[in-house]
Amino acid sequence: MKFDVIICASGESTRMGENKLKFDVGGMSVLKRSITAFYTLPFVKKIIVVTKKEEIDFVLSAINGLDKTKFEIAIGGNTRTESVKNGLQLASAAGVLIHDAARPFVSQEIIEKVAKSVEINGSGVPALAVNDSVRLVENDKIVDGFERDNLRFVQTPQGFLTDELKSCFTKLAPNESATDESELYARFVAPVSIVDGSHDNRKLTTMGDYLGANMRVGIGYDIHRLIPFKKLMLGGIEVEYHLGSLAHSDGDVVIHALIDALLSASGEFDIGSHFPDNAPEYLDIDSAILLSNTMEIIKKKGYIVNNASLIIIAEAPKLADYIPLMRVKLARLMGISYENISIAAKTNEKVGEIGENIAIASYATVTLV
Ligand code: MG
Repeated sequence: MKFDVIICASGESTRMGENKLKFDVGGMSVLKRSITAFYTLPFVKKIIVVTKKEEIDFVLSAINGLDKTKFEIAIGGNTRTESVKNGLQLASAAGVLIHDAARPFVSQEIIEKVAKSVEINGSGVPALAVNDSVRLVENDKIVDGFERDNLRFVQTPQGFLTDELKSCFTKLAPNESATDESELYARFVAPVSIVDGSHDNRKLTTMGDYLGANMRVGIGYDIHRLIPFKKLMLGGIEVEYHLGSLAHSDGDVVIHALIDALLSASGEFDIGSHFPDNAPEYLDIDSAILLSNTMEIIKKKGYIVNNASLIIIAEAPKLADYIPLMRVKLARLMGISYENISIAAKTNEKVGEIGENIAIASYATVTLV
């Protein structure tokens, strides 16, 4: 069976402050990501994007590079019901899938399950079990409960036979509206069949949903040989010790690992390509300056540090007293709060070069949003 897809992209992003469909998730807009999930499926005939008049250019940019003959644009109404009705007028395939554009993480597996269910049962809606208890509340008081085994969270895409869904809209009174199409179908046609939904298929509603969605992780590592007559700089703090790092710069392994993690998370080349260790301007340079320069690079790309997690591996000296100072210093250099940077120090159990105190090393992971 062939399907037309209606992508509902005309809602107001009142809870997010701006059009959330334009936000970037993994290098493409939320809208483009939702469209892409359907575009390559062999049973999808046409994708109808329902949007607001003033967002048509944005929709065109989201489908740029795709086969335009597979798309149609409908203008949304004042309610979801009206918007879907407008989109449905352009649907002609035997089946129709209706999807919220704000659910960009829908898997093709779910879409296939919904389509299969339409073929077999005439309808298909992804649903999730309710794990928390649900209560009816009036005036801030719980007045009743529900048997949660009988409750489900309902997601999209919601799939139906096109003619049957169209008939639901003709039976609806002019100003009546429904929460979604499954409600309409249940009212006018038959109970709706459910398939397994997924927690990944969440709707981006608050800024928090979006931040988690766009997280980027980076890893960094550095090691320096320990030599006499050099100061030991770790995490931007001078540590009292009779050995220090052999390096072109001040040899701060902690900051170097951190810089590599930041560059890695932002899709940049590594520390050596940004700050070459044979360039005269970096001779004995304070690594804190390199970290500040790195922050400028990632800021320009639009990223913010969410958190950083570091490990220092050194047989000696003991670092416990210095760690709070390093956290304060690095938090300030990165413009994040103290709680968002953690540093652990460990020995190498006397194993290998680090264990023999010939070298000192550090690992860093960061997340950017
Ligand atoms: Mg280094």
